[in-house]
Amino acid sequence: REAQARQQAAAPAVTRDGIAVLVGANVGSPADAAHAAASGADLVGLLRTEFLFLGRTEAPDVDEQEAAYREVAAALGGRRITLRTLDVGGDKPLPYLPLPAEANPFLGMRGIRLAEGFPGLLADQLLAAVRVAHETPMSVMFPMVATLDELVAARRALDAAIAADGRGTPPGLQVGIMVEVPATALKAAAFAPHVDFFSIGTNDLTQYALAAERGNPAVAALADPLDPGVLGLVDAVCRAAGERALVAVCGEAAADPLAAQLLVGLGVRELSTAPPAVPGTKQVVRELDAVLAARRAADALTADGPAAVRRAAESAIRVQ
Ligand code: PEP
Ligand code: MG
Repeated sequence: REAQARQQAAAPAVTRDGIAVLVGANVGSPADAAHAAASGADLVGLLRTEFLFLGRTEAPDVDEQEAAYREVAAALGGRRITLRTLDVGGDKPLPYLPLPAEANPFLGMRGIRLAEGFPGLLADQLLAAVRVAHETPMSVMFPMVATLDELVAARRALDAAIAADGRGTPPGLQVGIMVEVPATALKAAAFAPHVDFFSIGTNDLTQYALAAERGNPAVAALADPLDPGVLGLVDAVCRAAGERALVAVCGEAAADPLAAQLLVGLGVRELSTAPPAVPGTKQVVRELDAVLAARRAADALTADGPAAVRRAAESAIRVQ
């Protein structure tokens, strides 16, 4: 099975009943982008741009960012890049972003929330992204969006970057948000007319939905993306998006075969994983029947906990 997955790594992933699911790679550096291409990823579903900003005394300027994004694009040979704007905050302090210490950094100034206080930072990043978007298919996504006002302001900043670039809107430029805040999942219908896609960050969404800090071993068992409460939030996004916007998942859960099955069943049509997990994730999709997966997913929403969800999904995979 593994050999088959490797052999077909570059082929598209389509379920047995003909539903196409994009399988992307999560990338955190130009070197990762080369791994993504070699793994057969259809696209980069998440470019974490923090690598450009961490461990230095001042922010990279537009030219430096442009060069880095172009390097990523070169490694990808025309595959789409989903560029996430800077997602740092209290837990990842930067010397050139003077922020007060926070008692609860995960609930504080991070992600898109920094755009208001440091508009130049977002403006520079968006200008670099727009420049590269004239040469390669580019999706821009904003992290930690909690309100429509944040998205509207971010889109305005993107429009300003397009105006500053002066060449018009790059063909193929798409715009989306990460869904990491539970309220955003529940309000997805309000966001849908303003985005091309939603990308659900199950790492943070799970942390916030279950009030269990990611990376804290004392609550690791609680922070389970297969908790029916988390799946319910994914379901809310898929229902609100309908045919209007693509729903992706770029958290770790996308690489778990059981979770992938349920996510596709709920309506997710792009899974983005670490590069080594791409071939296996494509293989999982190929072995799925989307109609059956939808039935399993509907059952999972009303299961009494993640263990029951896992048991039901495991038996579903066995009987298929
Ligand atoms: C997530 O929150 O699931 C995600 C993909 O973003 P990050 O892990 O970078 O916070
Ligand atoms: Mg996140």
